This record gives sequence, structure tokens and C-alpha cells, in this order.
Amino acid sequence: MTEFKRNGSHLSSCPPVEKWDDWVEYDSEAWPRRVPRHYQLIPTICFNCESACGLLAYVDKETGQIAKFEGNPKHPASRGRVCAKGPAVINQIHDPDRVLYPMKRVGSRGAGQWARTTWGEVIETFAGRIRKAIQEGRGEEVMYHVGRPGYDFIMERTLQAWGIDGHNSHTNICSSSARFGYVLWHHADRPSPDHANARFILLLSAHLESGHYFNPHAQRIIDGKMAGAKLAVMDPRLSNTASMADYWMPSYPGTEAAVLLAMAKVILDENRFDAAFLRDWTNWEEAEFDGFSAKGQAFNAFVEALKRHYAKYTPDFAEKESGVKAEVIVKVAREIAAAGSRFASHLWRGSASGNLGGWQPVRALVLLHVLTGSVGTEGGHSLNAWNKFVPRPFKVPPPQQRWNELLYPPEWPLCTHEMSMLLPHFLKEGRGRLEAYFTRVFNPVWTYPDGFSWIEVLRDEKLVGLHAALTPTWSETAWYADYVLPMGLSSERHDLMSQETHASKWIGFRQPVLRVFQEKLGKTFDYTYQANPGEVWEEDEFWINLSWAIDPDGSMGIRQWFESPYRPDRKITVDEYYRWIFENSVPGLAEAAKKESLSPLAYMRKYGAFEVTTDVYKLNEKPLSPAELEGTNIQSNGVVTKEGKPVGVMNHDKAVAGYNTPSRKLEIFSKTLTDWKWPEFALPEYYRSHVDRSAQAASLAISSADFDPKYMPVVEWPKDARGDVFTLLPIFRLPTLIHTRSGNAKLLYEIAHNNPLWVNPVDAEKLGMLRTGDLLKVHTEIGFFVLHAWITEGITPGVVACSHHLGRWRVNKDDHIERFSSAWVDLKEVGKGQWKMRQISGVEPYESSDPDTRRVWWSDAGVHQDITFPVHPDPLSGMHCWHQVVRVERAGKEDRYGDIFVDTNLSHGVYQRWKALARPAPGPGNLRRPLWFPRVARPVEAAYYFG
Ligand code: SF4
Repeated sequence: MTEFKRNGSHLSSCPPVEKWDDWVEYDSEAWPRRVPRHYQLIPTICFNCESACGLLAYVDKETGQIAKFEGNPKHPASRGRVCAKGPAVINQIHDPDRVLYPMKRVGSRGAGQWARTTWGEVIETFAGRIRKAIQEGRGEEVMYHVGRPGYDFIMERTLQAWGIDGHNSHTNICSSSARFGYVLWHHADRPSPDHANARFILLLSAHLESGHYFNPHAQRIIDGKMAGAKLAVMDPRLSNTASMADYWMPSYPGTEAAVLLAMAKVILDENRFDAAFLRDWTNWEEAEFDGFSAKGQAFNAFVEALKRHYAKYTPDFAEKESGVKAEVIVKVAREIAAAGSRFASHLWRGSASGNLGGWQPVRALVLLHVLTGSVGTEGGHSLNAWNKFVPRPFKVPPPQQRWNELLYPPEWPLCTHEMSMLLPHFLKEGRGRLEAYFTRVFNPVWTYPDGFSWIEVLRDEKLVGLHAALTPTWSETAWYADYVLPMGLSSERHDLMSQETHASKWIGFRQPVLRVFQEKLGKTFDYTYQANPGEVWEEDEFWINLSWAIDPDGSMGIRQWFESPYRPDRKITVDEYYRWIFENSVPGLAEAAKKESLSPLAYMRKYGAFEVTTDVYKLNEKPLSPAELEGTNIQSNGVVTKEGKPVGVMNHDKAVAGYNTPSRKLEIFSKTLTDWKWPEFALPEYYRSHVDRSAQAASLAISSADFDPKYMPVVEWPKDARGDVFTLLPIFRLPTLIHTRSGNAKLLYEIAHNNPLWVNPVDAEKLGMLRTGDLLKVHTEIGFFVLHAWITEGITPGVVACSHHLGRWRVNKDDHIERFSSAWVDLKEVGKGQWKMRQISGVEPYESSDPDTRRVWWSDAGVHQDITFPVHPDPLSGMHCWHQVVRVERAGKEDRYGDIFVDTNLSHGVYQRWKALARPAPGPGNLRRPLWFPRVARPVEAAYYFG
């Protein structure tokens, strides 16, 4: 194993592996006596965000209980360090409000009456429904909808084994636009920046404090800074990350692409670009724009045309749009050019998730990498596909035959992921129904926009036949389910995890700690719920058993995929599933295990992670092997094809892998966008977001020359709307909280429990000498919410901001929806589609098995803002564009903190207006979607064509 060192010294705070079987610490509660306690240390993987950091569970050998969690020093990405949410797993597993047994609804939906049931009854009920739906050709009525993933591949495999197109995700309220921008360039839908080796780092989000791959990336950004890298942050909000930066560029929301393209113009005009990289590794020869065609032209002619095209993006223009000073734009552009191939960046949520066209800043950002030749380089921008390791399981089912239009509807043929946020609107429109619906660590009533539309659909048994919430916590969505099925936390389940955290490929193994501990003592278990608290299960075993029950005699062709590779005709065990992967699919693991006289499975149980390869750079230049070259043809454009499909590209007379795009190069010119009716965006461009100031003007019926209704739907205010117009930034994270999942961690809520509205002092004055703590009413297009003001210079004037992690609620005082993080509310439907919520009480101390719940000292649970937002589907990426044009006014006498009102009739109208922006399929050849675009659980190729 690699020892992780920093500045030459070991992380001395982590116990050495040779002592993990018997680690001794003194009992802090016994002080001043010196009472030693003996621990078995068992590695697992944190489940609290997508970073997949390594944890070490300290199991007290005397009590057999987990005492605490710390970082696993053998984990290649997190290197023994974790954020506050890692050790907080101990709060989650001991949460007195957690669901410990499978529960079945006994009253009407949403009434909150439950009875304990058995796993056997759950499996039998769902197996019967699903079997019937599949046998009657209604497979599309079976849907699995994931909030927090935490496994690699097992669900895609399960659904394809069932032969259904039923995978839904949360991605289009999360990262679809960022992914879309990256896909257009290089097919890989996420970046993998090599921050540690960079000379200049540009972040368009709050990475150090809360961004994507938060802890592993934050460590490496600091490593880079300590080695001399400079850091620039473009963010309208002074995040903790921006406060650490050499340059904070507080851009007006949605204008980021203008700034980035102005930087590109500086680099082009000053001839500071890497001409060889631009020539060799982009598809410039396909470019056609502004009447210029690169076909048959010299490279220089293309460069000149490009300079002419971007001439409009002057630093002065960008300053006017964004508020970022022209001189800062020029300075940063020159720093980026000087960093050359060691320029790293990241853009994931932030501007990408907030804005209509949020994928354009990604296009513009990667243009800077292309111009500096910093793609795939040490210290540069890599592709997630190069740094993420997903092993294949023992048997892979064929792709499904069908296409589910509830997931990928024709209006959004280019959408990066499923149009999940529109599901309630699709069901209301009669586009389909659900026979069996699984929500998995997924709380759309609370985390999605338009949560009341979700409630309206979830409570309707005609639209949703049977709903199981697979969840480690109670949630607002679980309240409207038929079954609440408790699933394991970080230390209660198996999963494989790998993320593109740095220039390496690694795999992490999440494992049920108490089961592993007991097995070390010689006990055996059929299922993980027998070792977990209560009957908390894990999904791997749930899906294996459910699949077997759907097809018990194998006649439907489903059972075969769940038969053991080691014991013919017998049901696979979870040990066998991972044993086969570790023995057969992870290069180098068997050899490493052999050196320690361990089986590969035992090795992974011991260390919890394995680094497959390091120093992964420039895989585009990897020569095609003789086997890969067999049966290939070289096209006139240099693309190497096999059976008509691009598999490589010629580079200086060598056939190499290239990128996974149609041209096998980085697509500076997107022929796909031209072919799919968006020719105006074939090059990276800037166009104004729905919260642009021209859109705000249009919403007030003030004429604005910049407003273009082709791209921006006008906000239609109710007749009696009052208040001043602002842009609301509703998506920034708090570093210690994580959506619904942190609700059951008392220490995290003790640290952060309110979400006031950030208001700049300039705006505070405009609103009538506002002070911190004053009550404000924020009107959205479909309703309002009431919260406190926080006056701060940390937000750009004209913009207000509110974190989305707060505002949990429960409808009954003693509902076990984490009482230290939720308010007790009065929820009423006062008219058809008109919903009112008022807080009856905030957080209060209460009696439970945990004495700490009596000591709760905070009363604020925050305010639920997301539920007052309508859906805003981007016409290309399908992303929900989170930012809102809002009206803000002082709250009136009748308003109380936490009040919410929403009219879902209005929200359906907003959905319709945004839908009208889309340019529906078919595309070329009667296609539903470009064949080369990635898709989760990809169906057969024939399903891509309208029948
Ligand atoms: S960053 Fe924090 S929450 Fe995320 S996996 Fe790592 S320790 Fe867990």
C-alpha cells in the first residue's frame, strides 16, 4: 500500500494498519482514571456526499458497538482526512429518530400512520406488482429514482436484468448543465482537475468549503497553493473559498461565460495560445461559422476567423455584463496563459446549475484549457473517465429494448440525464403512471423545486400505485410513501465507490462494519440486516432478493443474473458478488493481496480501498493496440472507425485513442448542436440567463433591448405583486450540512441551523434601512417564503442569497422527522393547488433515548425555500435553472417567520412556458437523441429511433 506523506512526514494521528486489530485508547469518559479501551478498526466509505472519503470505524471490542469514526489513512483520495460530516456518521447511526424496521402505511397516504412489517412481506408485495407489470408489457411503470447514489453499476445491472428502462436520478436538479458542457467537448461528463500540480486554479464554485469532491479536492487545492499556485474564484458570493483566493471575481449571476470568453479573446489576441494543441486536438476543420468554413482551409485561417468571432467579447463588454473589472479579467487571462499546461479549473454547480444556459460557461471554460493546451496534462484538466474506476461484475445483462419517455421525453432530446424534476407534471398531463415506484435516499418534496406538485402526485394512488422510500432517514417524501424501508448508512452496507479526485484511479469498498466485526469473531449471517441495528438492510441484498422473487423459477430470464458464479443455480450472496469483482475485475488487486497472503476480498475488507493506477495523463495519445486496430478503417478526416463507429484518430501518422466524440477530438465546433437545431451555439458562446437584468426588466414590463424571448421566458407576476426585484441565489451549500441526510446528525445541526437571506448593504438601504434579523417576504413566480435578513458585503448588490440546506419540516409534532432539525408546521391546502405552511414551533428540546435531545438549545430550523420555486428546465441540458427572479419586501403584520405559500396551478404554467423554449426531437435520421451521448442504463440502439 502507498503511504501518504505530506512534506515528508507521515500522518501520525492515524493508527498504523498493523495495530488495527487491537488499537488501544484511553476512555475519555473515565478520566482522570486511565482506563484502556480496545478497538477493532474497520474501514468503510463515507456516504454523506459523493466524495467517497475513507472512514475508519472504531468498534469497541467489549461492547461490540461502534464508538467513533475517523479518516482512513489508506484511502488514496482522502488520505486520512475527512470533513465534519465524516465523524458525524456516529450521530446518524445512533439517531433516536431513525427508522429501524420496514414500515407499512396503514392509514391514507400522507396521514402518517404506520405499522411494522417484515422484509419478506415487502419483497413479496413488490415482486408481485413488478412481475405483473413486466408480463403485461408495462415495464415503464416500474421506476427506480435515486437521490444519493453510492454504488457503481449495481442498479443499472438490476434494471437491465429486469429488461426495463426505469432508472431515474436527481441529476437534472444537480449537475446536468455542467455535464452537458463537458460532454459537448469530450464526451466525459465531468472534469478531473489536477489541482495539486497546477500553477493557476480557477474555480467557479465554492470548492474549498463545499464543492464537488469537497474534501479530496480541497486538500489538493491547498497542496497546489502551498506549492505556489495562484487561485481565482468567480462567484457572486464571498464564500470561504473566495476568501482564500488571490482573485475574487464577484460576477453578476449568469454572466460568467462573458468573462471567460473575454479571457479567451485576450489569450487569442496576444497569441499566447498553444497553437499546436489547438491544431492537433480540436475538430477545427469541421468548423463553420459567420460565413467561414474551415473545410480545406489552413489552420491560420481558422485562428483568424476565431479571433474575429470572439472580437465582441472585449474585457470592457465583460465588465459591463458581469461587474468584474476589465483589468482583472486581463490580468487573470494572462496568468492562465502563463500557467499554460498547468492550468486547472472546476465548474460543477454554481453558475452551471443556477442559470438558463448554465452549460455555456463550461464550454467557455474548457476553451481556456484548449487554448492553453492544459487538457490531460500534469496540473491541468483531465476527464473523469480517465480517473474513475468502475469494475465489471460477473455477468452483465443485455441493454433493455424499450425507451421510457417519462425519463427522456422528446422535447429535450439533448438532456444530459433524466428529466426527473418534471415527473409530477408528466403524470398530471397523463403521459403515464407508475405501478411500482422506488425512491432511494431521495426527498423531492423537500430538495426539489415545486415540492407541492410532488405531494399532489405522490398522494394520488391512481398516478403512483405503490411507493417505497428506501432511506436511512425519515423525510418529507417518505411521509407520502406506502412503505418506508430503512437502508444502511456509511457503516451498514456494501458499495463500490470510485471518484475522479486526482490523477489516479482508485476503488473504495463500503462495508457493513458490525457484520464484518462479528464475522471476524466467527459468526455467520445470511443477510446484513441481521447484524445491523434493528432490521436496517442494505440495497444490494434487497435487489438480489427482490429480483429472485420476481422470477423464482427463472422462466422470465431474470433469475439467471442473480445466480452465484461459484454455486450454480443458487442465489448469489453479497460476498460472492464482490469476491468475483475483486478476483477478476480490478487490475493489480490479486497480486497485492497475494503479497499479504490474503484473498482479494479479504484485502479489500482489511484496507477499504485500492489504488489501481497513478499518474494518469494524456490518455488521448494512447496508441491503439493491434487488437484494437484489427478491422478498422481510416476516414478522410483521420477518424479511425470499426464497424462504422469511431474508435480512434490519426495523430501525426499514429492511430491513437483520442476522445470519445464523433471527431475523436475536442469539439470546439459542435456539429451535434447544429444537427439538433441549435446552430447558433455550435461554438462556445455567451447568452443571457433567465435572471439577467434584461429579464428582470422584462418582468417589470420595462422595455429592454437585450431581452430575447426566444431564450428567456418572461416572469409573469401575480397582479398584486409587491417588492423590489432581485436575483436569488438559492443553491450554495453549507460545509457541514448535506441535503436531507445531515438531518439526523445532531452535531452538524448544532453547528448550522439557519439560512437567512444575504442582502448587500446597498440593497438593505434601498429596502428601507434593513437590519440583520428583520423579517423579509420573498415572492417567487408561484408563491412566497418569509425569513430573516442578514446584511453582508459578501454578496453582490442586486443579488440575494439563501442556502438550501435548511427548512426541514414535519406535520405532526411528534413525527420522527429529526426533531433537532425540523420545525413543526401547519400544512393546509386552502384551495385547489393552493398550499399554505406556517411554523407552529421551531426546534425544541425533547425526551428520547439520547440525553442530548434534552439539551437542544437552538430553536431555528431555517426556512424551506425550494418548495416555492417553479421548475425551469433548460431547453438543451434539461437542467433545472435554480436561480430565481424574486421580489423582496419587508414582511407585513400578518406574516410570520417560516410562512410559505404556493400555487401549483401557477407552477404548471411556468413549466409550460419553459417547455416552449425547447426544440424537440426527432433529430437527424429520426433519432430521439444523439447516439454518441452518454445515457444511464443505455437501451439497445434501435430504441434510439422513433418507431
Ligand atoms: S467530504 Fe465529508 S461528507 Fe463528503 S465523503 Fe468526505 S468526509 Fe464524507
